[in-house]
Amino acid sequence: MGEIQKMKKRARKKKEKVKFSKVEKKGGLTRKKRMRNGILVVFLVMCFMIGRIGWIQFADGERLKNMAYIQHTLDRKINPKRGTIYDATCEKVLAVSATVRTITVNPVNIKKEDKEKVARALSDIFEVDYEKTLKKVSNRSSIETIAKKVEKKQADELMKWMEENNILTGINVDEDTKRYYPYNNMASQIIGFCGSDNQGLNGLEAVYEDTLKGEMGKIIKITDAKGNTILKEGEDYVSATDGNDLVLTIDATIQGIAEKYLEEACIDNQCTDGGSVIVMDPNTGDILAMAGYPNYNLNEPFTVTDEVAKENWSNLSQEEKSTELQKMWRNKAISDGYEPGSTFKLITASAALEEGITDTDNKGEFNCSGSIEIAGVRIKCWRYYRPHGAQTLREALMNSCNPVFISIGQKLGVHTYYSYLQKFGFLNKTGIDLPGEAGSIFLAEEKVGPVELRNYFFRSKV
Ligand SMILES: [Zn+2]
Repeated sequence: MGEIQKMKKRARKKKEKVKFSKVEKKGGLTRKKRMRNGILVVFLVMCFMIGRIGWIQFADGERLKNMAYIQHTLDRKINPKRGTIYDATCEKVLAVSATVRTITVNPVNIKKEDKEKVARALSDIFEVDYEKTLKKVSNRSSIETIAKKVEKKQADELMKWMEENNILTGINVDEDTKRYYPYNNMASQIIGFCGSDNQGLNGLEAVYEDTLKGEMGKIIKITDAKGNTILKEGEDYVSATDGNDLVLTIDATIQGIAEKYLEEACIDNQCTDGGSVIVMDPNTGDILAMAGYPNYNLNEPFTVTDEVAKENWSNLSQEEKSTELQKMWRNKAISDGYEPGSTFKLITASAALEEGITDTDNKGEFNCSGSIEIAGVRIKCWRYYRPHGAQTLREALMNSCNPVFISIGQKLGVHTYYSYLQKFGFLNKTGIDLPGEAGSIFLAEEKVGPVELRNYFFRSKV
């Protein structure tokens, strides 16, 4: 090989070498750039993610937290069994709660493609409006009530449908209770009734709400995003505490008899204002029966019984409907004033005996001439045309003689007489445990002169 050739070869090698090293150098620069770009991208992504986390955490956090809560825990209430109401014998049940079912849905846990199907099944089984049901099923709320207090048979039908259609979440069948009144109209104005939420609205059901209602229980169900119960946590079940029972002084047999004959009497005598009967044990003050006519069916408390109102029901305003219902529910024996008339002579007689003014059988002590003058007014005896003549207290009571009781009252005087009205409890309410007791109507003692008092002695009313 010549010297020139060697040099050329060396030069070529060098060139190649140079060329290689140049390539190598070029390759090094690109990688750095790529790395820089890569870091920039990662940095930007991280910035975006931090920003997004911040947004979720601070700006949108509350909404998402609520959604997650709704999705993960589904809190349902279990109604307690309301206490039973018994009559005085403890043998007859006047009000009782039976177990029924309440159907609710958790719309978030029903798949979108199932919503129409579910709404259709619910509206068919429970005879509720399809459109309304679909709206409930499609809502974004945590829980919607579909049907309250349905019979077990219908609930079973739904559960069967759910199984057949493999829809196992989002529909709840919970135990609930429903109030039944086995005797329908009996003692309706005393017992009262409950609303759809089992709360006492009238009568003893309202007065003894705290005794009867019991304590609500609950089911806290923790589910995953698909609505499946998380097995380890499962359902946290706090059972309901049933209410206490109530035993009345009312004897169902006596109540039934009082109601039967009151109704007959009202119909026979065309008492358009109705009537009341109270049967009391005089030794204890226990009310054995308290009948009112007309009355109503406790199982249908919002169905008016008055024939005229019933016929015009659809034309009545909301206010008129309410007035009619209040009239029907009203316990006349408690809420309406009633002039006792001649029965009040017993009070005058008792006061006189207690004060020693007279005795039961003092012959010729009193005299009925057919009328008596008091404060310039002549008051007749009901048998003015054939006066009673000489009377003892016992005879005057038997004959219900007005002049005799006016003269006894004059002897007693206003102050003593009022002290007896007070002692007998006429100036106060009785405090009976029924709602709406009206007070009595008496003038204040200082306003009572001989003119006013003359009426009290024999009929209680001025
Ligand atoms: Zn007389």
